[in-house]
Amino acid sequence: MRIFFIFVCAAIFNLNAQTKPWQGKFEPIDNLIAPPNTYRTASGAPGKAYWQQRADYKIKATLNEKNNTLTGEEVITYYNNSPDDLSYLWIQLDQNVNKKENEDFGDINNNVKDNITTRKMQFLTRAIDFPAGYSIKYVKDSSGNNLKTLVNNTMMKLKLNKVLNSGESVTFSISWSYHITDRSMYSLSREGYEYYPEDDNSVYLIAHWFPRMAVYNDSEGWQNQQFQKLGEFALEFGNYDVEITVPDDHIVASTGKLQNEEAVLNKTQRKRFELAKKSFDKPVLIITKEEAEANEKTKSNKQKTWKYTANNVRDFAFASSRKFIWDAQAVKLPTNTVMAMSFYPKEGLPVWQEESTKAVMHALEVYSEATFDYPYPVAISVNTSNIGMEFPMISFNGGRATNGKISDRAKAGMIGTIIHEVGHNWFPMIVSSDERKWMWMDEGLNTFLHQRTVAERYPDFNSVTPKSIVPFMSGDKNILRPIMTTSDNELMSQFGANFYLKPTVGLQMLRNSIIGKELFDEAFKEYANRWKYKHPNPSDLFRTLEDATATDLDWFYRGWFFTTDNVDMELSNVKWFTVYEENANIEDQKQTSKIKIKASEKTAEANAKDFSNGPEVINMTSTPDANYGQFLSRLDEPEIRKQLSGKNIYEITIKNKGGLVMPVTIEWTYTDGTKEIDRLPAQIWRRNEYKVQKTFVKSKEVSEVNLDPNFEFADTNIENNSFPKLDTKSEFDSFKDKKKGN
Ligand SMILES: [Zn+2]
Repeated sequence: MRIFFIFVCAAIFNLNAQTKPWQGKFEPIDNLIAPPNTYRTASGAPGKAYWQQRADYKIKATLNEKNNTLTGEEVITYYNNSPDDLSYLWIQLDQNVNKKENEDFGDINNNVKDNITTRKMQFLTRAIDFPAGYSIKYVKDSSGNNLKTLVNNTMMKLKLNKVLNSGESVTFSISWSYHITDRSMYSLSREGYEYYPEDDNSVYLIAHWFPRMAVYNDSEGWQNQQFQKLGEFALEFGNYDVEITVPDDHIVASTGKLQNEEAVLNKTQRKRFELAKKSFDKPVLIITKEEAEANEKTKSNKQKTWKYTANNVRDFAFASSRKFIWDAQAVKLPTNTVMAMSFYPKEGLPVWQEESTKAVMHALEVYSEATFDYPYPVAISVNTSNIGMEFPMISFNGGRATNGKISDRAKAGMIGTIIHEVGHNWFPMIVSSDERKWMWMDEGLNTFLHQRTVAERYPDFNSVTPKSIVPFMSGDKNILRPIMTTSDNELMSQFGANFYLKPTVGLQMLRNSIIGKELFDEAFKEYANRWKYKHPNPSDLFRTLEDATATDLDWFYRGWFFTTDNVDMELSNVKWFTVYEENANIEDQKQTSKIKIKASEKTAEANAKDFSNGPEVINMTSTPDANYGQFLSRLDEPEIRKQLSGKNIYEITIKNKGGLVMPVTIEWTYTDGTKEIDRLPAQIWRRNEYKVQKTFVKSKEVSEVNLDPNFEFADTNIENNSFPKLDTKSEFDSFKDKKKGN
């Protein structure tokens, strides 16, 4: 037994020896992710002791159009559901990122060129200064006593007069104001105003606007990382009661449910809104172009207050202008009827009226089916000059026609943006991951469903596939970062590919090629439902996808999320054999064999480059009794010979050049023109991470072999995926070409 054991070990060792060090590509990723605990289970679900804080807001804000300021008073009730007693709280002051002294955090544009636009020069030098950031008038407790605060850039520390014990709540108020930024003056402007000189009006996009509670949780303590623009949000859930005072002739689009329709909408608008609630097939115009144009001229000095409530949201945003055209329709989901609405200035016509609300509807339907029904009463798309930006129930989306015309590409971009930003309601507005830390968690998951929506509802548009990530993954390894890089440490030129596309393609590969659609969709839905209105971490996603599918994905997470390796499989050799047949003409077979060996001796590696040499003959000998060990039974040798007789045996050698282990898809093309696909799981790379060999028996004769024929795995170099090798033709040809000087 012992001798036999040693023999087997030695054999395996020899067969699978790899020439480079073992990297443990299939080892568990336990050492790379946070260990499970009572808050977050090993299955990826929230644990029995899971808790999260809550913050309710009552806000009264006034928009002053004359000097472009926003002034507000807010009352925050903060619930300490943690097991910890807190002596101070951290509050986010996002507007402070626009202060000149804080700009270097973003470090966004940093080079002066010989030729540079005035706008870029403004970004770099702030030639026109701007009084950005908050003025905090006071912070008081519920009895009106001042509370001590300390501001560190975009974070304010609030020292409590009395320790906030576990299970208690505290109420305090903040009075603040800030100058609304001109969106054209900043790069990465997610909010601010856009001025329209032609009619002397602005569209105000108000977000990141009120001081908000930072997250306190089991994995970070206080998530008080500075706002540096790329890492957007980490926010707590709560209920909002918001009063927005704007010029009398403005129209407001906002997070939440409007509470005082009678006071802010005229009779015609209310009547049309009632019609829209019953219109499921197309939008109803609540404010027409002509009415919006008439509004543009009134310039009222009076004010009006719009009142909203929003429950169980993690943020609140609104838009205000007298330029808005407004359309709306109802969307029926299994458990909720939602008003899909769009607000746009006439500059957005005609494409916004034709496409915006329709895109909102498509997003609501596809995302709800893939995760859970959209739970809120409204889903709004507001037109802006550029960028798309998401908030609960409302998003600001770029894309406009020029002189009434828009290219197909720009239109697809606009529709894609609307779908994407509406989609953010799920990730991260409800499945509330920490975007300040992990941008990929919401951008990646959201882009995955956004691309699915585009593929399903707009099949004529281009959508992302594994091929889309190839240019990024074959890029310079000195600048590439793994997906598991914190948001603000990524390069501006790279974050789109690394945080949006690469996780999207990863999820597409898991769904379409590794786990399978049905199981994957179940697991994805499981993750969304487990973590809705909660704060998941990457480990919770990784664990849930394994837990709900019985698929070990650690090898995939390790490679795709934690390294910058790429997929490059090389089909380095295909050997063609036939088996020696006992009753056939032995001399003939031996003759073929000899010729074969002689032919291959010409090349150093004895690797054939095509099938022109014909098959080699395998001399299959009888198994000696000793090889059976203690087995008394014997294999039916004539039957084995019979089964393999006349068949083509192909031994293929695949090398892993890119570093990522992946399943292998092999396409066989036969001499009769038919094709067949064989699939091997990623686990074939367990024994040797750099090279695998696999033998196949085929009745038909093969003329061509291709790896990953349908581009399922983002192979960065498909030139080395074929046999006969693509360069076989070229050897002679390139010699000729060289002579010709080409
Ligand atoms: Zn996004």
